[in-house]
Amino acid sequence: LIDVKHIRQNPGLYEQNSIDRNYAAHSSSSWRIIELHEQWLALQQNARHLRERNNQLRGKLAKASAKSDVEASGQNRAAMIDEAKALKSEISIIEEKETALQEEIDSLAQGLPNLSSTHTPVGTDYEVVEYINQHPEAEPSHSDPVWRSHVHIGSELGLLDFAGAAQTSGWGWYFLVGEAAMMEHALVQYALSVAMKRGWKVVSPPSLVYSHVASACGFQPRDQSGEQQVYAIEQAEKDKAKPQLALAGTAEIPLAGMKANSTFEDVELPLKTIGVSRCYRAEAGARGIDTKGLYRVHEFTKVEMFAWTLPDNIDAEHFTAPTSSGSEAIFDEMLSIQKEILQSLGLHCRVLEMPTTDLGASATRKRDIEAFFPSRREKDEGWGEVTSTSICTDYQSRRLHTRVRLGKLGGKLEFPYTLNGTAMAAPRVIAAILENNWSERDYSVTIPAVLRPFMGGLEKIQGH
Ligand code: AMP
Repeated sequence: LIDVKHIRQNPGLYEQNSIDRNYAAHSSSSWRIIELHEQWLALQQNARHLRERNNQLRGKLAKASAKSDVEASGQNRAAMIDEAKALKSEISIIEEKETALQEEIDSLAQGLPNLSSTHTPVGTDYEVVEYINQHPEAEPSHSDPVWRSHVHIGSELGLLDFAGAAQTSGWGWYFLVGEAAMMEHALVQYALSVAMKRGWKVVSPPSLVYSHVASACGFQPRDQSGEQQVYAIEQAEKDKAKPQLALAGTAEIPLAGMKANSTFEDVELPLKTIGVSRCYRAEAGARGIDTKGLYRVHEFTKVEMFAWTLPDNIDAEHFTAPTSSGSEAIFDEMLSIQKEILQSLGLHCRVLEMPTTDLGASATRKRDIEAFFPSRREKDEGWGEVTSTSICTDYQSRRLHTRVRLGKLGGKLEFPYTLNGTAMAAPRVIAAILENNWSERDYSVTIPAVLRPFMGGLEKIQGH
């Protein structure tokens, strides 16, 4: 279901796209696809000739048995039968080769990243689009010299327990305790409430997903550098024949998979869903400052928005996707929900248009929002990613066989576009609140006003 024809017609475009996105190993795939396709065409032609000859022979043999034709009698008939048998086995060998070539073409095409949007800066440098809760001139890293890391604050106030988690699950895991655990629930509830006001439908997804669904969404078991990114489930001996399961790294995977092999009616789109899930990341390659505390953990709670829209590229003359519900409009809506949440939490943030090298395989365009973490001053001048929003065009819907029927175009089937965006990644935001709302005077942490209704009215986490 990948548009292999488009790849064959634009090999240079796909080569450059792979280079721009740091998929060097895939940069020659489009040319290899052309080569394989030519071999496939030659095989097809060969098979066609053989089938024609086979049909001729069978016709003659049939005629012969009907009226004992001289040409097809005796020895001659036996030779024709032998030739037909040989042709049959030759054809089946060619068919096997055709299938193998087709599979190789498909797997090369599947491995290519989505084409980048014209909004995406080429290379490694992002563009700062806007600031939230902060004047662009006022660098937070130069003010407020007194700070503590969330690991320090959380441990001092009994809100985080890493040592206990090391006993149950290992280093890299954590317990949220007391007000920090309550804050996690409050953040989830608050994020849901903001999105629900705008018509997002809440869905509770499963945590275990088929590995092939994760791959179809653009998540491979290993990342570009070969690091293991997902936790695969060990199958019991009796289940070995069943499809492999993995722990979902994000609710994006089960939400996208929910509509695999199904067809929307155009009037059902856009469909905007929001799901809360535990996310599991092997994070095998993570090292350094990020691995301390809550910033980069193996398991965390996240609220994720996922939407399907009409494709942007449908025949505009007959059927225009309403501008208020096309993929760009839903992208803007996701960003405005994220901005509303982060702004009301009082966090200093900046919105970034991410460059080609930073896009996941499925994305054509991505905007991240970073918050300021005093403990990250030494790294990235204090900035740390808290949300990520991507438009995936038809990359996921093609691989998952999700379609939309365009009623006004005589029932024509197209692939819808998909989008995903973080509404709340709980542990990072808890870390940012602890670090930014902590008071040196009495060691207390002020709870943002918007969270208080979800925390029994609590205004402060008391210090010592
Ligand atoms: P991603 O699904 O990787 O785009 O991440 C979405 C959001 O989840 C990021 O913006 C982070 O806020 C958060 N996040 C990603 N990975 C981790 C992790 N290992 N630990 C904690 N939070 C994470």
